Amino acid sequence: MIIIKSQHEIELMREAGKVTGYLLKELENFIRPGLSTADVNDFVENEIAKAKMIPTFKGYGGFPAGACVSVNDEVVHGIPSKKRILMEGDIVTVDTGATYKGWASDAARTYPVGKISPEAQQLIDVTRQSFFEGIKCARVGYRLSDIGHSIQTYAEGFGYSMIRDFVGHGIGQNLHEDPQIPNYGKPGRGPRLAEGMVFAIEPMVAMGRYDVEVLENDWTAVTADGKLSAHYENTVVIHDGEPELLTLCK
Ligand code: MG
Repeated sequence: MIIIKSQHEIELMREAGKVTGYLLKELENFIRPGLSTADVNDFVENEIAKAKMIPTFKGYGGFPAGACVSVNDEVVHGIPSKKRILMEGDIVTVDTGATYKGWASDAARTYPVGKISPEAQQLIDVTRQSFFEGIKCARVGYRLSDIGHSIQTYAEGFGYSMIRDFVGHGIGQNLHEDPQIPNYGKPGRGPRLAEGMVFAIEPMVAMGRYDVEVLENDWTAVTADGKLSAHYENTVVIHDGEPELLTLCK
């Protein structure tokens, strides 16, 4: 069942989303070669603590940190570590969220570490743009699958593939609520979108094939072919008109 949020509830999610969007923006200046993925997580947790909010991911399903920090072929759920050092030319995805008065937010970005290859930059840019293609359908009058179909059509146009094992989702008092939102599929399927639905829409795009494997830590998913993967996500409110992006700080 898709839970419709009231104006008041959306207001609380707006506050949570603002902190998440702000810290992801700040990470653009913070991320550089030589940092560990634990340093990146510390930055995130510190920003959330300064805002007196709760790191949504910490302890969720047993996840040990406030942010997932995933490098290169790691698709999602990278566990921050002091031993994993970011190198010039890497790409790194930070997926995180702040919770305010019990209301969650969830967003992700992939960042270049120093100077990266044009191919890696294109993957990041196309992944981001696929989100914006998808949300053209994230409004009253469309069906749920129209979002994923638009994302897929755009990203596959560049020869990339959509990760299938992880999907977008409803969000509210729980980080993961109904519905699931695959980043692929036929248009015109699934529930009709209604005012007050709130979704985490999150294309994950692979440069090669979409198959993933989970590492021995039981969390981190990597592309099976070892090629790069990028991610872009915002928490989105459905309206009768332009969708509202709660976690995008311009
Ligand atoms: Mg998410």
